[in-house]
Amino acid sequence: MTTPTTIRGFAGEIVEPGDAAYDEHREIWNAMVDRRPARIARCTSPDDVAAAIRHGRDAGLEIAVKCGGHGVLGLAVPEGGLMIDLAPMGEVTVDPERRRATVQGGALLRSLDRSTEPHGLATTAGNVSHTGVGGLTLGGGMGWLARQFGLACDNVETYTVVTADGDTVRASATENPDLFWGLRGGGGNFGVVTEFEFRLHPTTGDALACDLYFDPFDPAARAALRAWRDLLPDAPRPATLTSDTMTVAEPPFLPARLHGRPVVTAGFVWVGDMAEARTYLDTFRRAIPSPAAEEVDEMRYVELQSIGDARHVHGLRRYSAGHNLAEFDDAAIDAYLARGVPAGGPEPDWTLMPGGGFQAYGGAIAEVGEGESAFSARDTLVEFFAGSTWSDPAEDTVRMAGARTWAATLEPFSVGSYVNVIADADADVGRAYRSDNLARLADLKRKYDPDNVFHLNQNIKPAAARV
Ligand SMILES: Cc1cc2nc3c(=O)[nH]c(=O)nc-3n(C[C@H](O)[C@H](O)[C@H](O)COP(=O)(O)OP(=O)(O)OC[C@H]3O[C@@H](n4cnc5c(N)ncnc54)[C@H](O)[C@@H]3O)c2cc1C
Repeated sequence: MTTPTTIRGFAGEIVEPGDAAYDEHREIWNAMVDRRPARIARCTSPDDVAAAIRHGRDAGLEIAVKCGGHGVLGLAVPEGGLMIDLAPMGEVTVDPERRRATVQGGALLRSLDRSTEPHGLATTAGNVSHTGVGGLTLGGGMGWLARQFGLACDNVETYTVVTADGDTVRASATENPDLFWGLRGGGGNFGVVTEFEFRLHPTTGDALACDLYFDPFDPAARAALRAWRDLLPDAPRPATLTSDTMTVAEPPFLPARLHGRPVVTAGFVWVGDMAEARTYLDTFRRAIPSPAAEEVDEMRYVELQSIGDARHVHGLRRYSAGHNLAEFDDAAIDAYLARGVPAGGPEPDWTLMPGGGFQAYGGAIAEVGEGESAFSARDTLVEFFAGSTWSDPAEDTVRMAGARTWAATLEPFSVGSYVNVIADADADVGRAYRSDNLARLADLKRKYDPDNVFHLNQNIKPAAARV
């Protein structure tokens, strides 16, 4: 019988190959990722995190950090290394008087949203409730409230971080402001965040989602997307304009001629006052007439936040590609509608094709100055995302090629990529940052993690020492 591994100063659970819970804890959202860590340290406190980091360094193990496990590349799972699993640190505490939420580094978005909702408060979080607060916020954090209140990272008042040396430091506008700057978009490069303190905002807790459906081969779709584009600059902040492209089997709201065929939507999501939402709905419908079908739903904000959970369920194979666009001109609209299929060519099997679409930025996101945070895509008008989901490994090539090809046709219009959706291991992380921000991040990396202990992420290499 082998002696169980112990880590000095570590009070959490250590899980190793052969343990009953090993597969459960090494598996993450994207089933393409099948790596086997040597050891999983399930941390319960910042002291556990510090002990695990010291152990990993002493033992010469590559260190990775897992929160919600949604990172599409699966960098949270190190082959043969040490996984610092923050899942047991998932608590959220709300102080309604101060309008603050204290969120442990392993919390999921649903814990954050559901803890703030009873107080009539909320902060920006992503759109699928089983995503981790950790990875999402450290890369920026886009969500339905971002145009009103800024990205998730713009709402963090204080980060508590365990550094590569195992020291605990705080970062805010006044404490270690250089680190604070880097944590706002610089990902998991500078240490393990064990606690986020978020600012909260009063909300009605109500939401409305509108989708107008079009046949992408009908000229009406092009007209609709152009009208949708023209609404972007003046859209009220509670509205986030959306467009989605998909192939759906037989939804009752679509005419039979579109069953099993590609469809494209022009839509928006509203969070806030419902009377204002309905008034905007009238404006939106007038601007974008004659859809083949429409779907309008009113719901609670917390319901909106989990409406996509089932579609994004764990255990399926995934690949995605994305671009930020600062303009959405007619040529980009045509590329989007073509879905990567060459004009005049044979029709593909639409069921194998990727889905995807656009989500609008602007509003409070754009009000933060370009140099004020590491997050660099403040001038994004719309973010494009192409994603494939499948279960049979035999389809890997065709599924990934579909998303890549579609994204490649949008690339000429791109000004960069959102760091949290980069899905190729060899992609240039520089696509996510302005060059001056990238240089500043490299300097910060040299200060806080000169040995690049935290390299299993969208990695910023430490700047070379200046002589
Ligand atoms: C279904 C789905 C929906 C999504 N929706 C949105 C969305 O609406 N808005 C949006 O902005 N993004 C969205 N994303 C992208 C998401 O932001 C990234 O996938 C993000 O990395 C997920 O974080 P995680 O903690 O779940 O993942 P993990 O894989 O656990 O973490 C990703 C990386 O983040 C770092 N990390 C995580 N937690 C910590 C921590 N506490 N301290 C230090 N480093 C840490 C690590 O480097 C880790 O490798 C979505 C992704 C998916 C799969």
